[in-house]
Amino acid sequence: MEKQKELLRALPKVDECLVLLESSFDESIPPRIIKQCVQQCIEQERKKILSGDRTTRQSEKWWIASFEAAVEKKMSYNLCRMINGTGVVIHTNMGRSLLPQKATELLTQAGGYYSNLEFNLQTGKRGSRYSLVEEVICELTGAEAAMVVNNNAAAVLLVLDTLAKGTEVIVSRGQLVEIGGSFRIPDVMAKSGATLVEVGATNRTHKWDYENAITDHTSMLLRVHTSNFRVIGFTSDISGEDLSSIARDHGLVTMEDLGSGSLIDLSKYGLMKEPTVQEVVKSGIDVVTFSGDKLLGGPQAGIIVGARDVIDKVKKNPLTRALRIDKFTLASLETILRYYYDINSALENIPTLSMLTVQRDVLKKRAQRIVRRIRKKISGTCQVAVVKTNSRVGGGAMPECDLPSYAVQLDPRDIRLSVLEKAFRKMPIPIIGRIEDEKYILDVRTIQDEEINVLCDLIVDYFDQGTQQ
Ligand SMILES: *Cc1c(COP(=O)(O)O)cnc(C)c1O
Repeated sequence: MEKQKELLRALPKVDECLVLLESSFDESIPPRIIKQCVQQCIEQERKKILSGDRTTRQSEKWWIASFEAAVEKKMSYNLCRMINGTGVVIHTNMGRSLLPQKATELLTQAGGYYSNLEFNLQTGKRGSRYSLVEEVICELTGAEAAMVVNNNAAAVLLVLDTLAKGTEVIVSRGQLVEIGGSFRIPDVMAKSGATLVEVGATNRTHKWDYENAITDHTSMLLRVHTSNFRVIGFTSDISGEDLSSIARDHGLVTMEDLGSGSLIDLSKYGLMKEPTVQEVVKSGIDVVTFSGDKLLGGPQAGIIVGARDVIDKVKKNPLTRALRIDKFTLASLETILRYYYDINSALENIPTLSMLTVQRDVLKKRAQRIVRRIRKKISGTCQVAVVKTNSRVGGGAMPECDLPSYAVQLDPRDIRLSVLEKAFRKMPIPIIGRIEDEKYILDVRTIQDEEINVLCDLIVDYFDQGTQQ
């Protein structure tokens, strides 16, 4: 007890610390931030002493280092770029799709200048923000009309709220999807005020399942793409054409939540066959929703395409205002969509697509390049090798699709992998890898060529610094 009191008494005074720190920071750092950090550090130390976690006095050097670290942390941005070595291309926790440079240029313009976001340059009167991308979406998908909202979850909610509120919506049991986070079809349905009517079995749903469930209260037949899971084996599902024909016979509307929503048939490039937006539109489904930042490779957005009368109703829903997209999204979305006028240009320029379709020898060379750059410099502490691995599409798309890839494997001599993983995660530009077969690996599919220099420097620095962390 005596000891504890003594330690508490020995805690430094804020004003004294501020004097000690006079030469640590330049004027760009507000004094109140420094003071706040000092107070917090001292407070943390006080708690440690009181809880018995701290039984010795800290040196002046220790205090200065912790104040400096606290200020540096406080002054650095919370959202930061990272290096994705996980090989998961559409990584929802890492910002999903990367934008091409052209799109980021337009983002900057939209931010720094006034724009015709809602200004019709022909008439000089108010315009609609949706019209900026509607035409290109319609041309690419074959739909009559289109609009865009904040994300696909919003798109689904908005369409259900517009078309199905207070009525029954029929969905196959095999499609009651939960997408990570808390997006579950039954819950979204409940929020929209529609009543979910489940039909069929988990693995099989037939035409007559839908037909038998139709009542006077039914307004819609909904299909949900089972993005992130597959039912395999004895399965059966009805086609979009059949669903549309049942709906027509009964005067109902059809909707498909396509999830990822690709405009290109990626099975031509060694990936799985997923229905494209164009195919779903062609099958006669009245309204289709999909994400902007999954397989499309654009910004976060929810795209709604379909029959003109349906989209017009959606546009008039007051909820639209609450879910609307901003100018940054529109600026980058338009760039992405324009690349799709030429498939090769899309594959080359849209990072999500180029990462998914890159040739294996390109990946192998990239891994070799990294290994050549770091091997000699860290050979004393870590073994480095090029190894084969499998990447993932991510974003809840093509869950069972392994994409053969290459990785840089790090096998440190005296550092535990969990320690290495943590240290990499705490770097000035965090590096996120995977631990596979008791080794740390960086899948190069998701590492951009222009990141290689900084990645190598960070790795070499880490092993050079005696790896004390
Ligand atoms: C991803 C997904 C959503 C949610 O889309 P967000 O753009 O993330 O809001 C909804 N439905 C399906 C089927 C999905 O795959």
